[in-house]
Amino acid sequence: MSTAQRERDELRRSIEEFSAGGYTVDRVGFSVCACGNETFAVVLDDEVAVAATICAVCEEEAALADSDDHFDDVEEVQQAECSCGNSEFRVASGFALDPDGEVRWVSVGLRCTADGVAGVYVDWKIDYRPTSHLLAQA
Ligand SMILES: [Zn+2]
Ligand SMILES: [Zn+2]
Repeated sequence: MSTAQRERDELRRSIEEFSAGGYTVDRVGFSVCACGNETFAVVLDDEVAVAATICAVCEEEAALADSDDHFDDVEEVQQAECSCGNSEFRVASGFALDPDGEVRWVSVGLRCTADGVAGVYVDWKIDYRPTSHLLAQA
């Protein structure tokens, strides 16, 4: 198994084990920049519940799930930082689905590129439908 695959699996597992909102995570989508790179700086806000990636290579920004709709509400965005001080991550979004296949919870997991520690940094409830546009990214 390649290193990239192993790192993805570790990140997927940490998101599944966290089970944000108490729900089983049904789908996990990994962030991959259009340039092909998979490591990012991450900005987020816990209260408004948003997260976005900034590619470590080309600096392209991408909002995760429905974050683009809510970034305007954020007073001061925070940069995600691992406890080791590093702020570059592999990134994935977990989606918990209801019985109809609609998204009911989103969780954003990060795996530190320096020490490999993975965890969910922000998660939020989705209380509208349809939600298929969220899954299109996964
Ligand atoms: Zn890029
Ligand atoms: Zn770290």
